[in-house]
Amino acid sequence: MKAGMKTHLIGGDIPRIAGVPGHVLVNAPFPEVMAVCPATLPFVKARPAVAEGDKVRRGDPLFTDKKRPDLRFLSPVAGTVDRILYGRRRIIERIEIRRHPSGQAAAGPEPAASFPVVTGAGLDDLPRTELIRLLREGGVWPCIRSFPYRDIAPSDADDPAAPPETLIASVGGADPFGPSPDLWLAGAETVFKTSLRILRKLARTLTVSVASPYADLVRPLLPPGEGIRLEILSGSGVADEPAALLYRIKTSAAWNRSWFITGQDILSPGRLLTEGRYPRDRIFAVGGAGISHPRHVRGWRGISAADLAGGASRDVTEPMRWISGGILTGRSLAPGGYPGYYDDRLLLLPEGNEREVLGFARPGWNRPSCSRTFLSALNRKRRLKTGCNTHGEERACVNCGFCARVCPVDIMPQFMMKALGADEMETALALGLLDCAECGLCAYVCPSKIELSRILTEAKAAWRKEMAA
Ligand code: SF4
Ligand code: SF4
Repeated sequence: MKAGMKTHLIGGDIPRIAGVPGHVLVNAPFPEVMAVCPATLPFVKARPAVAEGDKVRRGDPLFTDKKRPDLRFLSPVAGTVDRILYGRRRIIERIEIRRHPSGQAAAGPEPAASFPVVTGAGLDDLPRTELIRLLREGGVWPCIRSFPYRDIAPSDADDPAAPPETLIASVGGADPFGPSPDLWLAGAETVFKTSLRILRKLARTLTVSVASPYADLVRPLLPPGEGIRLEILSGSGVADEPAALLYRIKTSAAWNRSWFITGQDILSPGRLLTEGRYPRDRIFAVGGAGISHPRHVRGWRGISAADLAGGASRDVTEPMRWISGGILTGRSLAPGGYPGYYDDRLLLLPEGNEREVLGFARPGWNRPSCSRTFLSALNRKRRLKTGCNTHGEERACVNCGFCARVCPVDIMPQFMMKALGADEMETALALGLLDCAECGLCAYVCPSKIELSRILTEAKAAWRKEMAA
């Protein structure tokens, strides 16, 4: 397969949301406290490798996975382990590292663990198993995940069926609330090329996907050779979702176990093997209707939401919800919270707790909805101020079909939900449960406020557990 080019239109005509991060990049101040959040890693049961008060270098292990002890999660910064926060059932929520004792200035270069540097012909000659070992040791392996459960990719030892049919490197650019690829790729082109060479060695083929406005940026960066293809995406924000692309390109059941890596995480393998340091740089898109100047912020893995939003002026006249992750898939952050392991976007959305008097009688010019009963349907291109108010409780499904209309993998979520409600897992699997991209679109458009995406995601996780038992 030669480096090719295909264009896919993914995602339906969904209401546009205001607060898109502008094409402006500012630098966050280097924080005094940084944190890693094990609880945001699906299917990882963290076993701490440090105790409170321990000193760590950048790149020292903070925790491992109980079931896969060679999965190491490293410290993004040198300092002292300040706090280990436990949640329900002793799950580690967060490990905080204080860079320097309060008020003490940095002295000398930051202590950092060093890892082997492998470039040029050395990379070509490196056996795949050795490459996997280096990526695991260097803490970047968790960036590579596998379908259909979005778990961290198995090593050869975990999965005799390795290598996967393809590895999708999703550059992104379709989600207006995600970081712009041209910003995080600027100056990192060589690292990006090296990363693609590394990723190519891990799977039978490498699929690089990118939104159409950034195709010309990425095309010249593809390494030469067989087994690399470029897929160009257009459509709504979910076009960036690698599961939606896999659904279109897979040619056999074996493809369902392919791997993926998204956005700036693509740079991590290249950075590790060219710089010999644990990579931590990250550009965050900070947006939402609660920020007056949505923008991009250059920060690090482990920075807090407060440090990211620091300089942005916020609307203080109404309560805000802080959300880390995608606008349709993110999780609420408590005050002082930290973005999740994979997150590169932060949103501030108005809670919108106020009750609407006679809301049903209003024309709905500013109401984001797929329904044509609101006037907002007259201009779908207008971005609407969206908050967290669901305007009512969950109700029974009215069979409107909106969820099926927008689903990027042609699932009929309303029937899936009913099958799962009746405990008919076989039916749900036959309806394509494992194809679900967990994109959240169905729940967003549902007029009955049914949390379809959560229901399907939990069902997938339960099925994975059953399969592993
Ligand atoms: S079922 Fe819902 S969450 Fe799953 S892919 Fe379809 S729209 Fe996305
Ligand atoms: S969008 Fe909601 S109400 Fe409409 S068919 Fe789907 S589940 Fe039912």
